[in-house]
Amino acid sequence: MSPQRAVLLIVVSILSWGLVSFFEPAESVGDAPVLAAFYAAPAERVETHVLKRGETLSHLLDRASITGGELSNLLLALREHRSPRQLQEGLEVTIRRWFSSGAPRLVEVRLNADSTVRLRSEPEAGWRSDVIVTPTVVDTVFVRGQIGSGSSLYHAVLEDDELGLPPAERIAMVSELAEVYVFRLDFSRDIQPGDRFRLAYEREARPDGTARRRRILIAELENRGRLYPALYFSNGEIGGYYDNTGASLRTAFRRYPVDYVRITSAFAWRRYHPVLGVYRGHLGTDFGAPTGTRILAAGDGTVSFVGRRGGYGNVVELRHPGGYTTLYAHMSRFASGMRAGRGVKQGEVIGYVGSTGLATGPHVHYELRKNGQPLDARTAKLPPGAPPIAAALRGAFEEVLAERQELLARIAPAGPRLAEVAEPAVVGVTQ
Ligand SMILES: [Zn+2]
Repeated sequence: MSPQRAVLLIVVSILSWGLVSFFEPAESVGDAPVLAAFYAAPAERVETHVLKRGETLSHLLDRASITGGELSNLLLALREHRSPRQLQEGLEVTIRRWFSSGAPRLVEVRLNADSTVRLRSEPEAGWRSDVIVTPTVVDTVFVRGQIGSGSSLYHAVLEDDELGLPPAERIAMVSELAEVYVFRLDFSRDIQPGDRFRLAYEREARPDGTARRRRILIAELENRGRLYPALYFSNGEIGGYYDNTGASLRTAFRRYPVDYVRITSAFAWRRYHPVLGVYRGHLGTDFGAPTGTRILAAGDGTVSFVGRRGGYGNVVELRHPGGYTTLYAHMSRFASGMRAGRGVKQGEVIGYVGSTGLATGPHVHYELRKNGQPLDARTAKLPPGAPPIAAALRGAFEEVLAERQELLARIAPAGPRLAEVAEPAVVGVTQ
């Protein structure tokens, strides 16, 4: 196998203009002496409890010897922010106690990655609560890369040692990039060795490097020598990706009905073995993905069939405007409420990947037809899915385009032969 060091990605975070917002904990003034004492280690004992399956918060606190009136006051204070019944298994509760008496003085209930309810015991006043929001900063991340032989965009980004992003963030970024291009390219098959990309995205990042929100501002993908620009433009009413001429990237149909990352992550290499083979009269495209992966409607339409159909197994068929139909086969199950006559929106979940019918592994078999004639869903010319930028918005669009292109210009394109920089392959998985 040739080297996987296919990619050079750079991340230059925290542009000056990107330091836009910084969320401070919702802290009331006047607490300073109390706060200082929280961290005076010798004065307190700290313990962390995890909510077990089927356990209530009262149980957990009872385990921690918080009972009676103290317990009910504490639950009452928590209820200001969250019903104790809504808490999930695995939730972490940190209790800080006075070293001398062992009495609890501070209880922190970590609701999720972004917020914690902090309950503190105050003499006279009883338990008081407030919510601490994890601080985030808005920054801009620049990424560039080139695909090496035998690699995929997914693996190129995931295995890059120099990319200063946690794995979950990389996956989310790749998934988002694939969605930007989902109407133009099938990343699982169309991306070739030598293809290059660069992009700038804005994110609201937590201290651990994960993002609460992210949006690709501008991207450029070179596929087989052809350049695909993508610019995010929004004016409050419309919002979406456009090419440099103001044409929407959106078409009436997605090129494939699943999340790219779910297709790719199931296989070590882009050119995975076609599990599926091509049988006589095969009129669709197969996408291998783990059982249970969500299958999305390729376009707006109406459900015309839901049920079992011979070798296709569990099938959903949709009818679309303009004489188009799409079909999705081998589903493990249908989305709830799927029945003939029901309307569906592009991107709506209609079922889940499986291997019902004649299938040797979990995959979705996808067909696109026009007036009954099968089309190649990955290459067919498709009707547009959104209008181009209107004349009235042209000026604003050009302005954003110029500004974002400047942003992109800060990232030099990935070099033509970076893929050949010799370095041992990182993964040893072969076909
Ligand atoms: Zn098939």
